[in-house]
Amino acid sequence: MSAVDPSAPTAAILVAAGRGRRMGAVPKPFLPLAGRPMLVHALRALLEAPGVHAAVVVAPPAYLDAARAHTAAFPRVAAVVPGGEERQDSVAAGLEAVPQAEWVVVHDAARPLATPDLVRRVLAAAAETGAATAALPSRDTLKEVAGGVVRRTLDRERIWQVQTPQAFRAALLRAAHERARREGLRATDDAALVEAAGGVVRVVEGEALNLKVTTPADLELAEAVVARREGLTPLRTGIGYDAHRLVPGRRLVLGGVTIPFDRGLSGHSDADAVLHALMDALLGAAGLPDIGQHFPADERFRGADSRRLLAEVVSRVQAAGFLPVQADVVVLAEEPRLAPHLPAMRAVIAGLLGLEEEAVGIKATTTDGLGAIGRGEGIAAQAVATLRPVPPKA
Ligand code: MG
Repeated sequence: MSAVDPSAPTAAILVAAGRGRRMGAVPKPFLPLAGRPMLVHALRALLEAPGVHAAVVVAPPAYLDAARAHTAAFPRVAAVVPGGEERQDSVAAGLEAVPQAEWVVVHDAARPLATPDLVRRVLAAAAETGAATAALPSRDTLKEVAGGVVRRTLDRERIWQVQTPQAFRAALLRAAHERARREGLRATDDAALVEAAGGVVRVVEGEALNLKVTTPADLELAEAVVARREGLTPLRTGIGYDAHRLVPGRRLVLGGVTIPFDRGLSGHSDADAVLHALMDALLGAAGLPDIGQHFPADERFRGADSRRLLAEVVSRVQAAGFLPVQADVVVLAEEPRLAPHLPAMRAVIAGLLGLEEEAVGIKATTTDGLGAIGRGEGIAAQAVATLRPVPPKA
């Protein structure tokens, strides 16, 4: 099988213009599924498929602004355009918005569970004949019924249930749409237009979970699938380390708690090594730059309360799509004795991370007199933090 040239411009057309009145006033693609609109799930699958360079979203004219807001976080969305009266008109509008595309993959926003792998397989199959569709072989015996009685039993072997995505050489699909327009041909999918124009449409085995959300029951099922998939998304772990020198004339602040001692840690902010190590662990787990990048040693952060900085880190981590699950910290200090202060530190950290205290570990150790920490010249802290992915704010 030849592959689609990976450098050939390949555009996805996401059809989100269906009215779908069966499920209420809001168009179906805009209904929330696991906290974000169905169309965003479908868009992600398209853009995560290898080879897809750009996408155009076709939305109902009254929902253009909403569609633009929901897709603003996806830089490869080339355009959001108004759809037409019927699905066929909407695909035609999408095609016009991607004049440079050599290959197009058309997908319905009402199928939010399609995977990037299915998109990839359909595109690869299209390379053979110029057109391909996802479809499932029929498992049930199918009968033709009229007037309440069976007229005949169909040959199940030859019956496939068609899905999207469908992929085409762009010129072929454009010609098929042009011909349909000329001849007044209407069809419920694009493959049918290519068939009518004499094209050969390859069939790729689709996905059983790539269901078309049509009823509230479908939406409930889709919710369960998304919840399971997101539950399977791996957790992320980060590590952080910090150390500061002990000097006279400074307050000793560790884990957001002020600890009575004759010296404190020197630093630009309050020098809370515990919260600093924790911030770097959180940022690392989220794949974000370290705290020095977020809070440079300038006037804004002189003497800063590190609890405020940690709250800011948590919100940046959330904006990046993650929530804390658990954290563990070890403080390395020869003196003072930290054990009496650990419960207070734990409460501060749990509060700032939005966690139960059981999800926060904090302990102190000496280094048995070894090294600079052992000589009491400073205090250090190490932290690990675990994050789980959350749906991005739509
Ligand atoms: Mg520090």
